[in-house]
Amino acid sequence: MRVKVTLRCNECKQRNYNTMKNKKNTPDKLELNKYCPFCKKHTLHTETK
Ligand SMILES: [Zn+2]
Repeated sequence: MRVKVTLRCNECKQRNYNTMKNKKNTPDKLELNKYCPFCKKHTLHTETK
């Protein structure tokens, strides 16, 4: 059930993080507040494929 997802910054659209998620626990799109080295601040990162 674990799938690999990429997290993308909502502001600059850079793909900053790769992570795993469990589809059973997180059926919806992942949205995480993470540090973006391009924006140099914490931004909302959303799951992309
Ligand atoms: Zn960014």
